[in-house]
Amino acid sequence: MTITTRFPPSPTGMMHIGNARTALFNWLYARHTGGKFLIRIEDTDRARHSEEAVQVILDGLAWLGLAYDNMPESQFANKQRHIDVANDLLAKGMAYKCYCSPEELSEMREQAKVEGRPTAYDRRWRDRDASEAPDGIEPVIRIKAKLDGYMTVNDQVQGDVKVAYNHLDDMIILRSDGTPTYMLAVVVDDHDMGITHVMRGDDHLNNTFRQNLIYEAMGWEKPIYAHLPLIHGPDGAKLSKRHGAVGIREFQELGYLPETMRNYLLKLGWAHGDNEIISTEEAIKLFDFNGIGKSAAKFDYAKLENLNAHYMNEADNERLIDLLSPFLKTHHDIILTDIGLKRLMAGMDELKERAKTLVDLAAEATLFLNTPSEYSEKAQKQLNGGTLDTLKNLSNIFEKLTKLTTEAVDEACRSYANEKLEGKLGKVMMPLRAALTGTDKSPNLTVMVAILGKEETISRIQSAIEYIEKQ
Ligand code: GLU
Repeated sequence: MTITTRFPPSPTGMMHIGNARTALFNWLYARHTGGKFLIRIEDTDRARHSEEAVQVILDGLAWLGLAYDNMPESQFANKQRHIDVANDLLAKGMAYKCYCSPEELSEMREQAKVEGRPTAYDRRWRDRDASEAPDGIEPVIRIKAKLDGYMTVNDQVQGDVKVAYNHLDDMIILRSDGTPTYMLAVVVDDHDMGITHVMRGDDHLNNTFRQNLIYEAMGWEKPIYAHLPLIHGPDGAKLSKRHGAVGIREFQELGYLPETMRNYLLKLGWAHGDNEIISTEEAIKLFDFNGIGKSAAKFDYAKLENLNAHYMNEADNERLIDLLSPFLKTHHDIILTDIGLKRLMAGMDELKERAKTLVDLAAEATLFLNTPSEYSEKAQKQLNGGTLDTLKNLSNIFEKLTKLTTEAVDEACRSYANEKLEGKLGKVMMPLRAALTGTDKSPNLTVMVAILGKEETISRIQSAIEYIEKQ
């Protein structure tokens, strides 16, 4: 038997972080076992359906690096097969037609409340002959749930969960307009796709019992279930927009790396000892149901950011620059030139150590790419009559050096400080930093000078001199 997992999103226009985690766990389990990971788009809600919403999900999976092993199935496209199964169940006597009017149903619901009955429908058409059917009512088809005993689900996370059969409704599987219900569609599709393991949010645990009625009625083997506790926000409430970003695309736009998200989502509900950093390769080796936690996981935005800093530091420089380009364009309107690319390649080791996200990295990268067009308040404090001479002298000293290597710049700044500023290196570096970056913060300044090169360094110092002289 090939272990086969699935990810069946309803296309809502975004890929929620909870869905992404479900997809990741299913993908990992399939990869861990050498099985298959299949996608099905649950697109039966035609009124709200849109191809863009489907694309958002496929893009999210692609960005996360979760490749699937099929052409994504469309649940809507399988409609006839769902109808056939409903009719099959009817023919087998495992389902029946129910002719209740909407009024009767709402009366029953009221009555059930009064009696404290767990099922709303009182099964009145279960044993009634169709010859008694009233005129003008198109029937629904209902499943004939067992009435005695208990159904036990041996959940891989929650353990054995038991429900009395008579607490399960004779639920509708085919509506009066002939459309299959969601419960029926899911079971038929999971069966036809050969799904062996269903891992999903524990908000679906109730559905599992109802869906199992269909497996049992058809005599199909049920999948193994694992219901994952939901994800909570830092305050313990279900994670939602008011906590911050919740969609995969949002995290992408905030400058997180896909490997960070895989690691973070894995840890959000799964553990292997105290390891916080688990690469995807390791995760594939280690992932199993035993590691899944039983209680809701708390999403911690600060932890995610720190993990991203780790993965940014680990990332290959060329790849980082590729990932950075769209951020430079959208956040700073910069298109990389050859010179810019060269500077970034040379400075990337310095830059990436300081950045937590690609957004941060892009902001830092502008120090190499853009000549400062203005000076921050703190930079302005360094650019005045008191530092004018230093800047002029540095410009002359740099001019005379054949090449501005890190060592040569370091040596030049130190000797200047020793000769003219009582050895106070800060008095050289601070105005130089202000002149070169327009701010009071920068990556290692001597490295920066070496990367900018002689012409650009001197031109930035000259601009600062002009700025001071205009004051
Ligand atoms: N379409 C359902 C959802 O997005 C999937 C439920 C399931 O995994 O069976 O919640």
